Order: sequence, then structure tokens, then C-alpha cells
Amino acid sequence: MPQYEKILLKNMETSGYTGSLADYEHAGGYQALRKVLGKIAPAEVTELVKKSGLRGRGGAGFPTGVKWGFLPKEYQGPKYLCCNADESEPGTFKDRQLMERDPHQMLEGILIACYAIGAETAYIYIRGEFALGARIVERALTEARAAGYIGRNILGTGVTIEIWLHRGAGAYICGEETALLESVEGKRGLPRVKPPFPATHGLYNKPTVVNNVETLANLPYIITRGPEWFASIGSPPKSTGTRIFCVSGHVKLPGNYEVPMGMTFRELIYEHAGGMRSDKPLKAIIPGGASAAFFTEQHLDVKMDFESVAQAGSMLGSGGVTVMEEGTNMVWAALKLMEFFNHESCGKCSPCREGSPWLVQTMRRIVAKRGRMEDLETLTDLCKNIAGRTVCAFGDAEVAPIMSTLLHWRHEYEELIREAEVTHPKELAMAAVRH
Ligand code: SF4
Repeated sequence: MPQYEKILLKNMETSGYTGSLADYEHAGGYQALRKVLGKIAPAEVTELVKKSGLRGRGGAGFPTGVKWGFLPKEYQGPKYLCCNADESEPGTFKDRQLMERDPHQMLEGILIACYAIGAETAYIYIRGEFALGARIVERALTEARAAGYIGRNILGTGVTIEIWLHRGAGAYICGEETALLESVEGKRGLPRVKPPFPATHGLYNKPTVVNNVETLANLPYIITRGPEWFASIGSPPKSTGTRIFCVSGHVKLPGNYEVPMGMTFRELIYEHAGGMRSDKPLKAIIPGGASAAFFTEQHLDVKMDFESVAQAGSMLGSGGVTVMEEGTNMVWAALKLMEFFNHESCGKCSPCREGSPWLVQTMRRIVAKRGRMEDLETLTDLCKNIAGRTVCAFGDAEVAPIMSTLLHWRHEYEELIREAEVTHPKELAMAAVRH
């Protein structure tokens, strides 16, 4: 197996590393902050990040430096940075590890980002269920404050940045950036209609940047080792750096793997995650968290970078790679995901609010062998009437598992329906009459 240099998991995989401030400083931590504060102009820091090619690690993959550049330059009032630590996508568990095992690299990244965009206040919005992570991050904040890295006149440079930890209440939708902002403001976490975008009308209606934990944690290394170094890793020019992929499902060694972008699914699953747990053939892969369209074994040689996965019909998303073996019923698998999405729909817009329960009801009927062939048309129609017609991207996300399983495993739906025709003929005849 080729050896790769890890960036974000390197410290925590060193023997004896605890994630304390002393350990982080001993590993070179906070040197990047010392390098930029008062020495490199904020606009120049943004240019360095643009040059590195860093893209968001939360799901959308938007270029980080470009996002920062959208903030109005002439604006003199308060600006905010929100660190999105509301990791709730099924199959995704990397930000949790980053916060629990090495919280200071995220804090240093937040400080660098705040300096670059001119924000004096940052909020870390952490998923409500991450009780341990919240305690660890709170302790790290206390350590960093005491050491003069957070607060007024940081390291004597005259720069002021305060960071607050905000715990969510356990709603998946609060990972959507505008719902997150609503929640920080103390309101119910409902996505906002965009535009306007957070860059101009964000937290408290002020210019705001929302960046993911993993995205921010990369910043200290881009500063200390240079944007050219970062841009040389992975699949330049559009997918640079490493990515932490969370491998789960029917593999021998599930876990978080930090590898350069551009590795194939085959290498990740068979060389890093130990291959299939029972040596059955691989049947399906969710390539980027529950919102991503399913892949089949035909996609094993697709490169894990933003463009290659998109060209193959899915997305790299949050980095959650869920593997399923031969024998998994794909209609059942899609139903489980749909039940999750139905539960988490915030209810703000009608295609998602009304369509989600309808999708679940229809899928449950098929899985229970009480479905009808017309149900497949109903599912397709519903999905088409949800995707692209909702307030937030949740609508597109929730239909992806159904649309992709219908595309790759339609015969499994049809088999369940044919079994229904044998098992419940009278019931189906009555349903047809009512229809
Ligand atoms: Fe809420 Fe769903 Fe509409 Fe998003 S798509 S705003 S989650 S109802």
C-alpha cells in the first residue's frame, strides 16, 4: 500500500498525543497564527487560501477562499464566522474525531479565518449529541484563552477574536448553513430563502462565513507549509489536499481514513478498510454521506475527487462512504434512509413536508410486499416534484437514495411487487378498484 502523509490525523496518531494545548504547541501548533497576525495582511491570507485550492469539506465543496472573498470589503460593522460542527449526516463521523482528539487545530483554523475576513466573533455550532466533544472543545477554548490565543489583543498584536461554543439541540437541518444561523440566533432552525446569502446577510443580518470543521482545521498547515504544498496533494487543480473518508458498513475495518483526494474507491475499501467483512462481493457504495446517490461495484475505480464523483453521477459530499455487500436489499436500504430524511424534514416547504411521508408510505408498502407496479411511477413523480423545488438542498438529498436505487436496482423493486401479487392478490385487486 503506498504511504501518504497525513495532515489532520497526524498528531492524534502520534503515541502519547492527548490533544492538549501543550501537545499541540509541541507539534508546531499556533505557529501559523503567529505567522499571520499583524504580519500578513488579511486579504493576503485569503489569497493564500485561494491559491491552495482548499474546498469546503462539509458537503457542497465550495472553494473556501472564494467564499471569504464574497464578504463586502467596504463594510465596517461586525462580521461573523460560524464553524459548522453539526455533523449529522448518516455515515459521517470525521469532525467528531477532529474535535475530540485534536481540538486546537480547529481553533487555530478559526482564528486564522476570522483574521482573514475581519471577524472579531466566531461561534462553533456543535451537534447537540456531541456531549463529549463539547466538553473537550470547551476545555480547549479555556486553555487557548489563558495562553492569549483568544480574546483581546491576541499575542500583543492588537487583534481581538472571541470564540463561543454553541450546542445544537439535535436537528439534522441545523447543519444547513442558514438554519444554523437561525439556531445560533435562538430561533427554530429553519433554512432561510436564498438570496440574500450569508456573505452579506448572515448571522444577525451581518456578513458571515460558515465553514466546516475539517475545512478550518486545514488552514494552519496551508499557512505554515505554503499553498503550493497543499495544492500539490490530491487531484489538482480542483480537488487539492487530503480528505478524511468515514468508511462504514460491510467492511472489515470501518473507521476514518485520511488520504489524498483522487484515490479510487477500490483502494480505499480494499487496501485501507480491509475489504468486505464476509468476503461476499461488494454490491453498493454510498460515496458521500446519505444525501449522495448510490454507486455500484461498477464505480469502484472512480477517483474520489469532486469532479470524478460528480461526473459518475453522485457527489463526494461529507466524505461518508458506506459499503454494502451482495445480499443487501436495496429497496430496504433506500427506505431506511428515507425514514431518516422524513423524520428530519423541517416542514418549512410543502414539496418536502408533504412529499417525504408519501415517499416513506409508498416505500414501506413495497418492502412489506403490498406494493403495485404503479407505485414505481408514483415514486418517480414524487422525487421529480421534490428535487429542485424546495427551500434548501435537503429536497435534492432525500430523493437521491430512491432515484439511484430505482436506476441501478429497479428489478429489486419489481421483484418485491411481483411477490406482492402472489402473496396478496385480493388486496391488490381491491386497491386497483379503489384507484
Ligand atoms: Fe425544510 Fe425540507 Fe424545505 Fe429544507 S427542503 S426547508 S428541510 S421542508
